[in-house]
Amino acid sequence: MTSFCRLRATPAPGHCCGLKSARRSAVALAGRSPPILRAWFLLASSVLAVLLLAGCKSGPQTTPLRRFEFTHPAMGTLFGLTLFAADEASARSAAQAAFRRIDALEDIMSDYQAGSELMRLCEEPPGKPVPVSADLFDVLQRAQKIARASDGAFDITVGPYVRLWRFARKRKEPSNPTAMSAAAAAVGYEKIRLDPRTWTVTLLVPNMRLDLGGIAKGYAADAALRALKGRGVTRALVAASGDIALGDPPPGQRAWKVEISGLNAGTNGAGQKLLLHNCGISTSGDTEQSIEIGGTRYSHILNPRTGLGLTNRIQATVIAPDATTTDALATAVCVLGPHRGLALVESMPRTATSVFTKEGNQLHPYASQRFKKILKSQVAGK
Ligand code: ADP
Ligand code: MG
Repeated sequence: MTSFCRLRATPAPGHCCGLKSARRSAVALAGRSPPILRAWFLLASSVLAVLLLAGCKSGPQTTPLRRFEFTHPAMGTLFGLTLFAADEASARSAAQAAFRRIDALEDIMSDYQAGSELMRLCEEPPGKPVPVSADLFDVLQRAQKIARASDGAFDITVGPYVRLWRFARKRKEPSNPTAMSAAAAAVGYEKIRLDPRTWTVTLLVPNMRLDLGGIAKGYAADAALRALKGRGVTRALVAASGDIALGDPPPGQRAWKVEISGLNAGTNGAGQKLLLHNCGISTSGDTEQSIEIGGTRYSHILNPRTGLGLTNRIQATVIAPDATTTDALATAVCVLGPHRGLALVESMPRTATSVFTKEGNQLHPYASQRFKKILKSQVAGK
């Protein structure tokens, strides 16, 4: 988990968010979805429209919402909340609830705290079904779903390799081959068994070490957004470095504006700007955390098949209905590379990606069909 920001989010410069514009951005995200998904988006935009109309009708009786921002360090980064509430007291108490939720998840999922629920699970003997909390079971299920879909490009069992990567970073020398092959025996997403009837997790081989670094921030951002909603704050955004969960747009606006920076920044002087709401967006890449050994640069994103950090320059941004999915998928797309990464995203509903690779000084952009539609519809919407 890094403490750098590759995604910046702000309310879009706003004209009034009427039925038409709300529907336009929702449909843009839906792209060519199957009918059931189109229905979902139409329903979502209708609900939004109804809420907006309700807001308009109540007119002067409604307390105008004010914008508040809060930050909180957790999971090795800084979580930022932007939210709209009637007054400071309710904004602050909602933010505190969201931050408590994030802290509770960090205590469960951290691989830096020896006493976290995740690390305690890894201490259990192999083959033993271990009962776990609802949150841990849920995030493991979500991670395994992306692991299967990406054919193991996203794999939370990479922990032993990550440990060696961190040693190599400290010593500035490559991991020794014996340690690498010992690690390999404990890596492989199919070595985890989840039993949804008993909420138990079985790690099938010795020395497994799970690493939720590629999904926990997105999961926590989603959970924090739900905690805000539970306090009646629906117009909110939770940003954890490169992972953002977006709720309803700011009052009077049709979306949040999210800017992607990183590999692509600087080409035309600016990154891509997207107008989004009620979804997740994540950017992963090698731009911020890497080690250089013997003149080769290794990313903190590892290829689970080799155990080595990626050496190619790549940055992937993924948009999907929630930030748990985007966090894990953005990591997976980096491992898969632009062609297989785009194919994976095209196969998943309501999901879009933009990928940049760099060879020498040459930048290569790639975008999924749905991503191109989102960009196009927003240009049209200006
Ligand atoms: P960041 O945390 O910098 O936003 P990512 O979301 O891409 O970046 O997560 C990278 C982290 O995920 C690594 O630091 C490591 O802990 C873990 N990780 C590395 N490679 C993989 C992989 N192939 N699958 C799952 N997790 C990974
Ligand atoms: Mg990730």
